[in-house]
Amino acid sequence: MNIESRIKELTELLNKYAYEYYTLDRPSVEDDEYDRLYHELVALESDNPQLIRADSPTHRTGDVILDGFEKFRHPYNLYSLGDVFSREELAVWEERVRKDIPNPEYICELKIDGLSLSLYYEEGILVTAATRGDGLVGENITENVKRIKDVPLQLSEPIDIVVRGEAYLPRTNFSKLNAERELEGLAAFANPRNAAAGTLRQLDTKVVAKRGLATFLYQEASDATNDTQEEVLEYFVRLGFQVNPVRKFARNMDEIWEFIEQATLLRDELAYDIDGVVVKVNNLAQQEELGFTVKAPRWAIAYKFPAEVAETEILDVEWTV
Ligand code: NAD
Repeated sequence: MNIESRIKELTELLNKYAYEYYTLDRPSVEDDEYDRLYHELVALESDNPQLIRADSPTHRTGDVILDGFEKFRHPYNLYSLGDVFSREELAVWEERVRKDIPNPEYICELKIDGLSLSLYYEEGILVTAATRGDGLVGENITENVKRIKDVPLQLSEPIDIVVRGEAYLPRTNFSKLNAERELEGLAAFANPRNAAAGTLRQLDTKVVAKRGLATFLYQEASDATNDTQEEVLEYFVRLGFQVNPVRKFARNMDEIWEFIEQATLLRDELAYDIDGVVVKVNNLAQQEELGFTVKAPRWAIAYKFPAEVAETEILDVEWTV
């Protein structure tokens, strides 16, 4: 098959998978298969930029949104993340950061495997909650998000702020939900991410309240009120948000990799699913300097875990809390 045909084939296939995953919450292939095909397309497109198709999935975030919810236009583009799958690929990203930022400080966080959402507060009151959608337009799921117990309806300060985070279904609630569905003769959800996405798209808010979703907030989408990512997270805690306590500073690849190894070992012990680690430049002014590609920030990267992780003993890790 020639390159042009392969690009067309991959574009169509990946768009179909993305629709099943993001819009229908019913993926037909495993994530690592999607990622493998996606990166094949990225490589072909980068060698043959004249063949990039207008509907290429490498040039947009998420997917079209379902009818049933009001559409919500985000005032800020909610970018996705670039991803890497090996230490070598991560080192290429880190080297690229170092070109612009001589002595970067990084903050390494767990990559929560849930559904991306943004919360809009006015004078400290939750007014809107929306899915990321394609980064520009999401679904207005405010009434459902109000049923998530750990989302503050009112912050400790009367501020206007937009925060980004992940809604997820804790593993125990996922098992309970699937057991109940089995008794009722309903199809089980494939994984907690899938169940969380399906739950937030429920039209009946009582169902959402019953399922026990939870959140971790990790980013300020409105204009920065702090100087570093670490300060943002500490501020979020004071405002009343749930923030994941597992994170670590790093100054070079060895320290980043150490966190990834620790997170890999911790993975099975957590109360929720993670699918990798997110490494971010800690200083927000430096983040701004690095900017964005068409789809993702240059100042952050997702390291994705391999599909199968061998179970080994947990290291005694000291986390920054
Ligand atoms: P992503 O999930 O790979 O990474 C970006 C997201 O990570 C962000 O939007 C954010 O919501 C989340 N995140 C979690 N913890 C975070 C933290 N601490 N800091 C910052 N962000 C954090 O990107 P995506 O665009 O949502 O999805 C792409 C991935 O979805 C693919 O790589 C693939 O694995 C999967 N996918 C699978 C299929 C399939 O058919 N199986 C189809 C499409 C996509």
